[in-house]
Amino acid sequence: MKQHVPALAAAIFSTLLFSLPARAQFPLPPQIPIWDANKVELTLHKIRTDVYAIIPATAAAETAKGIPQATTGGFIVGEKGVLLIEVMLTKRLFDQQIKLIRSVTSKPISYAVNTSDHGDHCFTNYLLPASTIIIQNEFAKENLEKNYENIKQFMLMLFGKNRGIEATTFRPADIVIPKNQNLKIDLGKGKVVEFINAGIAQSPADLFVWLASSKVFWAGNSFISEKPAIPWLFDGYFLEPAINLKKMYDFLPDDAIVVPGHGRITTKAGIKFTVDYVEALKRNVEDAVDKSFTLEQTKEAVKMNEFNQHYILFDWLHFNFNLPAAYKDIKAARNTK
Ligand SMILES: [Zn+2]
Repeated sequence: MKQHVPALAAAIFSTLLFSLPARAQFPLPPQIPIWDANKVELTLHKIRTDVYAIIPATAAAETAKGIPQATTGGFIVGEKGVLLIEVMLTKRLFDQQIKLIRSVTSKPISYAVNTSDHGDHCFTNYLLPASTIIIQNEFAKENLEKNYENIKQFMLMLFGKNRGIEATTFRPADIVIPKNQNLKIDLGKGKVVEFINAGIAQSPADLFVWLASSKVFWAGNSFISEKPAIPWLFDGYFLEPAINLKKMYDFLPDDAIVVPGHGRITTKAGIKFTVDYVEALKRNVEDAVDKSFTLEQTKEAVKMNEFNQHYILFDWLHFNFNLPAAYKDIKAARNTK
């Protein structure tokens, strides 16, 4: 099934269109919505004192089955206020988040951080109190500023109408972190939270959140979940994500607790599948390019069945986005040698 991309929507993920003809058609996933914001129930998971993850109720049972999960998040209760990690796609889910926060603290939400410019990580910023300071990757802010309506159309295409996406409005971030820079905020009592812009790991808008004192890592979309999920490289970048996913994986201590973008809480070992898949894809596509395969021949040759472990979105992501992005980047790199 294919759907015409609204002309403006196409502009957002401009690099996405590298392989698409002028009359662009965006390959749709096998199910729309990918997950249903009208049905998601968010639950609270205490990781450490004052450190919480917010996880869809279905994630415990469904992550390992390869069923796509809604956005995860969390919050840290500091001395003066709360730092919220992610706001959700719609008001319905935002209200659930606030209820979970209020079940453990009455402190104000001093900060909110979005790890992506995709709507499921930032669209309900507008519902936060005016006093909340919003933190994003610098590109994320700029892209949202320029392309909010286009990103909204894209989210509607994948996550469906009448879920509350239509009602969201743009609210700009207050603090931005440029590429290859970090920021630390001291929330008191030894809780120093670090925001890491490591460069493109899924998209140029990625931001990682690291709480060193508790060894908790919020990974966002870059690490969707543990096995069998694979990355969503539909912004069209491959070689830079390949480096940065490995870099962030190596950065984590073995006993880190990982809150992935869309799955149950896991460990460093739990996100290794993503790194392994990307490394194998790189090797396989390099081989194909060395043999002068076309993109179509590469798709035929690089099915990577060993990584196709019943993730519902495997074929959609692997053949439409991840493999073509790898092919484009690797071919370009070879040509400049
Ligand atoms: Zn997401």
